[in-house]
Amino acid sequence: MPMMDIQDILVVDDSRVQRRHAVELCQTLGAGSVREAEDGTQCLAMVRQQTPSLLLLDLEMPRQDGVQVMQQMAKLEMAVPIVVLSSKDYLLISTVELMGRELGLPVLGGLQKPLRREPLLDLLQRVWTPRQAQQALEHCPAQEVKAALENGQILPYYQPKVQLSDGRIKGAEMLARWHHPEHGVIGPGRFIPVIEQQGWATELTMLMLKQGLKQWQSWARQGLRLPLSVNLSALSLSGDELVDEIERYMSGSNVPARYIIFEVTETAIVDNLAHAIGCAVRLRLAGLGLSVDDFGTGFATLQQLTRFPFTELKIDQSLVTGISGKPHLIAVFNSIIEMARRLQLATVAEGIESPEDYQLVAERGCHLGQGFHIARPMPAADFLAWARQKPEPPAAATIKENLS
Ligand code: C2E
Ligand code: MG
Ligand code: MG
Repeated sequence: MPMMDIQDILVVDDSRVQRRHAVELCQTLGAGSVREAEDGTQCLAMVRQQTPSLLLLDLEMPRQDGVQVMQQMAKLEMAVPIVVLSSKDYLLISTVELMGRELGLPVLGGLQKPLRREPLLDLLQRVWTPRQAQQALEHCPAQEVKAALENGQILPYYQPKVQLSDGRIKGAEMLARWHHPEHGVIGPGRFIPVIEQQGWATELTMLMLKQGLKQWQSWARQGLRLPLSVNLSALSLSGDELVDEIERYMSGSNVPARYIIFEVTETAIVDNLAHAIGCAVRLRLAGLGLSVDDFGTGFATLQQLTRFPFTELKIDQSLVTGISGKPHLIAVFNSIIEMARRLQLATVAEGIESPEDYQLVAERGCHLGQGFHIARPMPAADFLAWARQKPEPPAAATIKENLS
C-alpha cells in the first residue's frame, strides 16, 4: 500500500543495522527520498541543510541523544514532524513524546524498536496531515469562520457510543465539522481555536445544541431515542449567559433534559474552578448530564473531581489506543475505572481502534466505548442506517464468555 505523500524522511540511528532496516521500510512505504544520519549532530546538520518532511529519531545515541536533539530543534525552531524510536519501555517513550510536545515540537508518536511496518503505517495514517491540508488550516481567517458559523456551514457529525458488554448503542457524541465550499470537510482542530480566540465559543455550543435537539426529535419520531453529547468549550464556562441560554433552548424543545450530556474537559475545571462549579451545578439541576472529557490528559486532582457533579468520565484516547500491548497504560486505566466506580460515574473509553483494545477495556469493567473500531463520526443522514444495521459488536461474544 503506498503511503501518504511523504517526500523526504530522515532516519537517525547510531546502529547501522537498525538504520538500514528503517530506511528499507520507509522505501517500501513509498517515500520520495530517505536520508540517514548516524548521530544527533549529523541529524541537526542535515535538517539545517534541507528540512525533511518526517524525522524518525532514535533515543539512545552516543554524544547527542534523541532528547538533546529535540531540545536543540526546539531552540532552533525546527518544526519537523517526529516519530520517536526506542528499544526502551513504552512509559519512557511516552514521556519523551510528552516532553517533545511540551517543547512545541510536532511529535507524531513513539514506537518501539525494532521498527515494524504496521505500527509505523498505522501511526502515520492516523496523524499525517498532507501539506495541502495544513495550508488550508493556516488560511482560516476569522471572518470566514464567522461566516461559516452564520451560514450553517458548521454541522455536527455523530459518533456512536456503545455499551461494551453487548455492543448496544447508548448514545452519540456530536463533533463539529465545517463543510467548506472549496476545501471540503474540515475538522474542528482547524477552526475551533479561531472560534475560541475570537470569543465565539458560546455561539458554537448553542449552534451544536440547536442542531442536536432538532436531530434528536427527528430520530425519536423514527423510534430512536438516544442521549446526545455536546462538547462545551472551556471558555464558555467562564461566561455568565451560557447556562441561561441552554435552559432556554431546552425548554423550547421537546427533548427531555436527561438525553443531553455536556462534555467539559479536565483543563476547563482546573483553570476556573469556582465559576465552573457554579455552571456545572446549574446544568445538573436542570437535569442535564455532565461528562469529564479527555480525562487523564490534564492534572485535575481527585479532590477537584469530587467537587464536580459529573455523571460520566471519558477516558482520553491517549490512554486507550493501543492499550492491549502497553502494560503501563493498563495499570493507569485500571485505577481510573476503580476511582470512577467509587465515585459512581459511568465510564467511556475513547479512541478504541482495534478489537484487542475493545476487548481489554470491556474486560476491565469500562461501561461504554467510542472509537474508529466501532464507527467513525458520521453525518446525521448515515447514522440511523448505521444504528439499524449495526454490525455484530466487535469481540462482544468473547467478552461475555470471559465474564461468565
Ligand atoms: P473530543 O471531544 O475528545 O472528541 C473525540 C475526538 O476523537 C474526535 O475528534 C473523534 O473524531 C476522535 N476519535 C474518535 N474515535 C477515535 C479513534 O478511535 N481514534 C482516534 N485517533 N480518534 C478518534 P474530532 O472530531 O477531530 O474532535 C477533536 C476535538 O475537537 C474534540 O475532542 C473536542 O474537544 C473538539 N470539538 C469537536 N466538536 C466540538 C464542538 O462542537 N464544540 C467544542 N467546544 N469542541 C468540539
Ligand atoms: Mg468530547
Ligand atoms: Mg475526548
